[in-house]
Amino acid sequence: MISQYFDYNSTTPVAEEVIQAMAPFWVENFGNPSSLHQPGRAPAQAIKKARRRLAELLVAEDEKEILFTSCGTESNNAVFRSVFDLSQKEHRKILVSSVEHSSVLQVCAELEKKGWEIEAIPVHPNGELNWEVFEKAFDENTALISLMMANNETGICFDIQRAAEIARNRNVLLHVDAVQVVGKLPITLKNSGIHFLSLSAHKFYGPKGVGALYVRQNVPFRSSMIGGRQERGRRAGTENVAGIVGLGAAAELARKDLETKMPEIESLRNLFEDQLADQIEHIFVYGKSRKRIPNTSNIRFQGVDGETLMYSLDKQGISVSGGSACMSGAHEPSHVLKAMGCTDAEAKSSIRFSFGRYTTKESVQQLLQVLKNTVQRFRTGEKIST
Ligand code: PLP
Repeated sequence: MISQYFDYNSTTPVAEEVIQAMAPFWVENFGNPSSLHQPGRAPAQAIKKARRRLAELLVAEDEKEILFTSCGTESNNAVFRSVFDLSQKEHRKILVSSVEHSSVLQVCAELEKKGWEIEAIPVHPNGELNWEVFEKAFDENTALISLMMANNETGICFDIQRAAEIARNRNVLLHVDAVQVVGKLPITLKNSGIHFLSLSAHKFYGPKGVGALYVRQNVPFRSSMIGGRQERGRRAGTENVAGIVGLGAAAELARKDLETKMPEIESLRNLFEDQLADQIEHIFVYGKSRKRIPNTSNIRFQGVDGETLMYSLDKQGISVSGGSACMSGAHEPSHVLKAMGCTDAEAKSSIRFSFGRYTTKESVQQLLQVLKNTVQRFRTGEKIST
């Protein structure tokens, strides 16, 4: 079952090592980490260790820069709400890219209703940010730039270093949504010029319901959650101890996997794309010429309805996604592919394949075989029940 799963950008299975690390924190070490008595100590220590592990993975200056949240969405939301709360009246403009995740774009839409100016910077057809428009978009009111490190649908990376240099010169805060990059590419936060960075454990073999936000030292931040002093007053509420421990264990695993597993996953992704191009005509790989996260392949099958193809693959035991899992079922063409200049029909004939730790060469060969047959049957007009 797991070998037929090609939707790792949507979520990943929890790694065995992570499950084992979490296990003692349900009953044995159940205490509240804020308690001053004995049962509170082990959970408090475990959170500290998880924070250190994550800070190491991200090469942060100080582990205190990490605060734990419930997911990537919360981390993204928290940055915007904090900037909204703390900004002076005249600083009311935010720059984002037009291909951000809905957890960024929808908060922006809300801020817009409150009178903020949001400028969504377009991308080129190859997925690269339009830097010319980006540079021109700044004015003295700009408070924040928010850019994703890699896109969840296409895997295409933005040049964050370039954005950081611009942010530094303009004296503007930079938030980076790295939900799809943690565990897939190395990240170095120290001296990066990044002020905020969001991530989510379930995207890199940790549990669901836990994420983190990096807030650079001395950068003002106001918690969206109030009512407790947890996370140094930056996120109130009793900690999800087992989840945080799981995130820490996943970060440790990611550190090892970056060197060993990721190159293997990348070669499987490349094998898939090369063989697909040999075996199926009229396909298009988005962002092939660009830097991408190593596990992702978004492909257009000309003349084939992506959603019907996805359901047909599902019936044959293969799990893929039409794009963002959060948007699946919306029957709307992807806003990401549309921003890259695709027509509705082109966007709707596209499927995202994302590979991971448990993908094997055999499973990729099987995927290729099933895809070839199914696409051929679709194209010859054979009626396929889904
Ligand atoms: N940002 C990106 C780029 C994502 O891909 C996702 C999830 O797919 C999120 C944010 C939201 O993360 P979570 O599912 O942890 O809320």
